[in-house]
Amino acid sequence: MAPISDLCDQARTYLDRRQVEAIYRAYLLGAEAHRGQQRATGDPYITHPVEVARVLVGMRLDTESVIAGMLHDVMEDTSIGKERIARDFGKDVAHLVDGVTKLSQIEAASRDVVQAENYRKMLLAMTDDVRVMLVKLADRLHNMRTIDALPTDRRRRIARETLEIYAPIAIRLGLNHVKEELEDLGFRALYPNRYRVIQGELRRTRGNRKRAVKNVQTAIRRRLRQEGLAARVLGREKHIYSVYRKMRAKRLPLEQVLDVYGIRILVDSVDMCYRVLGSVHNLYKPRPGRFKDYIAIPKANGYQSLHTVLFGPRGLPIEVQIRSSEMHEIAESGIAAHVLYKDGNARNSVAHRRARTWMQEILEMQKTAGDPVEFIEHVKVDLFPDTVFVFTPAGEILELARGATPVDFAYAVHTDIGNTCEAARIDGRPASLRTPLATGQTVEIVTSRRARPDPTWINFVVTGKARANIRGYLKKLHRDEAIDLGRRLLDQALRREDLSLRKLPKGRRWDILEEFRLDNRDELFADIGLGKRAAGLVAKRLAVSARDPEATAKDANRANGRDMDEVPIFIAGTEGMVVNLGKCCRPIPGDRIVGYLSSGRGLVVHTGSCGNLPDLDSKHEGIDVDWAPEVERQFPVDIRVEAENRKGILATIASAISGLDVNIDAVGIVDRDGVNSQMAFTIEVSGRTHLAQVFRRLRAVPLVRRITRPA
Ligand code: MN
Repeated sequence: MAPISDLCDQARTYLDRRQVEAIYRAYLLGAEAHRGQQRATGDPYITHPVEVARVLVGMRLDTESVIAGMLHDVMEDTSIGKERIARDFGKDVAHLVDGVTKLSQIEAASRDVVQAENYRKMLLAMTDDVRVMLVKLADRLHNMRTIDALPTDRRRRIARETLEIYAPIAIRLGLNHVKEELEDLGFRALYPNRYRVIQGELRRTRGNRKRAVKNVQTAIRRRLRQEGLAARVLGREKHIYSVYRKMRAKRLPLEQVLDVYGIRILVDSVDMCYRVLGSVHNLYKPRPGRFKDYIAIPKANGYQSLHTVLFGPRGLPIEVQIRSSEMHEIAESGIAAHVLYKDGNARNSVAHRRARTWMQEILEMQKTAGDPVEFIEHVKVDLFPDTVFVFTPAGEILELARGATPVDFAYAVHTDIGNTCEAARIDGRPASLRTPLATGQTVEIVTSRRARPDPTWINFVVTGKARANIRGYLKKLHRDEAIDLGRRLLDQALRREDLSLRKLPKGRRWDILEEFRLDNRDELFADIGLGKRAAGLVAKRLAVSARDPEATAKDANRANGRDMDEVPIFIAGTEGMVVNLGKCCRPIPGDRIVGYLSSGRGLVVHTGSCGNLPDLDSKHEGIDVDWAPEVERQFPVDIRVEAENRKGILATIASAISGLDVNIDAVGIVDRDGVNSQMAFTIEVSGRTHLAQVFRRLRAVPLVRRITRPA
């Protein structure tokens, strides 16, 4: 009984006797329930929940979480149900165990994690109590520690899932030590050889490194002592996966990554952080542009520190983190350490309050059933000053707004460079045009005479000049598209008059231009394309002046058996800005569609059954439309799913959808009562056939009652 008594001893350091007893009772129940079961390692099964509980005690979590950790597998693997847990340990614990069980079921169901992002959204969306995720992470941590016992294919799958799903969740919850261990274990299981090489190299050079770091540490210590600043100066070991990631991200050879030394300085107060910073900057020259003040503006997960990089002895870069002990605790165990341990003599620290607010925000956002991951992205506060300074290849320095990309850079150099920029190189390496630039980088723009501004640039440029130029170009593009659409619409309308643009005589027949006070045909087409002028009326007007000479053409067409009235405008969904698919009904290929011209917006397409169709009158001209024979893009469509209201049902369905390799744009619960849960999804499909497949798949999901597409 050594392990469990250790665990109880450890719990006793922060929980009271009654609480520790409850943990022990949970152990007895778990041991009884799992009796006779074995882990792949050959150990009795109960060793696993005990280790999971130990991880949670290590995070100093509350009793409920620790008990839930101890019992997390009983609902799935034994005859003990939720009611029994609720009776013995309270509703809270039962709720947590139930939540963890649901997460595990999702995990088993979506074996093929192709859409890590969807999957992550889903896991967070179904966690209504953040403690469920903490227990789940502890479970995953212990499973990773014992992963060697599993066969290769399962090992690889679980390792990949750990790196793609669970490590990112851990860092979002501020659990740095959990994240690092998950990453190292995941990396070792997925790439054993690469792991061994880096580990070997780390060991081999540890001696040298230790000596160099020691020297720097000693120098810093001496300086701080001279200035009367109390601080603890520690060397910092790199974790293996971070070395690997740095090699890949910066394309550096192993030695260069290992050459960066890490030092951490712990002090007593915020004030002291800045004083120590001043002192070390005095001792070693700081590298420009590498100072970050996460104290003034903490990261979204509550992390605070000062970061700086120094030129150490022999020019070796030294990464320094300066923080108070309290910040250190948050950095290592995040939300866990401060929020969840509710002891009587409330620790009313700033960090505590911030962490609490943070968790409330998480819970709030989950209530609105939006998109948790995105939400967290949004609360990330800007941490840096407002400008970046970058070099042109000629060595000129440009000042740009923070977040500026190579496109901003190109427009800053010259409008023509912006309008023809095709690719970029940052510090000599090819980079995406949307890469945010950092101070000190050298940026080179590759232009091409054929290159044109891309409308999507508007989404990521940050400087006024780039924005104005791209807007100007889009306006022109919009006009070109409007002209093209107007030409097609007028041609179609002319066919109703047994005419066509081609058959229309040149020259004087276009005297209507003068009548409409327009300079040229393109202006007329643009007006029609934008819905400012009805194509039908223009066609009639043109036909009047063309009537007589065209009588024979009409007969010819009739003789050919072609009914010219029936040529619709084909929609491929790629027409750009002058063709709009109604957001109310979201038409997809295969739907019967109708179009009408809306003044200024161009052609708007709805499904035939859409309730939002306007009355067709002089303001809204109806247009005959149909889908183009080959439509290649994906279209968003709304679906409603009605299912039995069970915890985790949202995730089960999202997982079934993801399984079809269908993108989910939005997820939400529309209505929920004790019995039913109505969920709304916006998914992307290629058309009705594809949608039918999705419906078929969803109908096969147990608990699903009804699937509809709102009209
Ligand atoms: Mn488990």
